[in-house]
Amino acid sequence: MHFLIPLLCLFLITSISQAAENPTTAAKSFRSGVVLTFDDRYVDQWVQQIPLFKKYDAHATFFVDHFYLLKPAQIAGLKKLQDAGHAIGSHSVNHIKAVDYVRTKGMKAYLQNEIDPSVKRLTEAGFPPTAFAYPNSSRSEEIDTALLKTFRHLRGGTGLTAGQRMRDLKAIFTPVDQIAGRGCLIGTGIDYAGTEKRPDYLTEIKDAMDHAKQRGEIVVFYAHNISDKGPGHHLSPKALEEILAHAQQIGLPTLTYDDLP
Ligand SMILES: [Zn+2]
Repeated sequence: MHFLIPLLCLFLITSISQAAENPTTAAKSFRSGVVLTFDDRYVDQWVQQIPLFKKYDAHATFFVDHFYLLKPAQIAGLKKLQDAGHAIGSHSVNHIKAVDYVRTKGMKAYLQNEIDPSVKRLTEAGFPPTAFAYPNSSRSEEIDTALLKTFRHLRGGTGLTAGQRMRDLKAIFTPVDQIAGRGCLIGTGIDYAGTEKRPDYLTEIKDAMDHAKQRGEIVVFYAHNISDKGPGHHLSPKALEEILAHAQQIGLPTLTYDDLP
């Protein structure tokens, strides 16, 4: 039987080298999608929803601020999210509004104090970020340009005006062939969808997803905590499940920022 051992070794070496040639970072191909993002540092609650995402083979991006305050268990939680196929992005160091900071202290100080240390700490912990979400959606083209030297994509935000349909919020949709050329993607907030605060939102979200699917576009959403009662702004697990189920039903892939070209 000894002759099998060299054969087995050869097989193993070949498998390993093939794996190296096909890194998992290879761009995913898709014709439309929904990009679900969650901000701040509700790691404990996010981790609890890993099985829900898994049930629908769905993935999201988690944008983290104040990384330096995370406990080892929370960093381990981010690792669990990452291992489950989710992406981890930067949400700055101290969650300060970018426009105010740059106006008062300058761009160089902003990058040095609010961006570089976040990227460094995330990278050192094993989460090199490809994307950044602006705290409070405070952004400008000048800051976009500066940040796009570090990140592949950014996320800004916008809201609905009274009576406006979500599908008419043009900024949140990007045709798939224009993603690579659009550094900053704009999302809209979906916290409280399906609650008294936003009773019609689930219908609007699903309709916006249908719209993206029909037109070959991606649509970007953001929320914060995933829980029924907070703390903080939150989307209920039940509402999240409705969104994930709808994506699966209409064949709309859930994409992370790391999946975007
Ligand atoms: Zn935030």
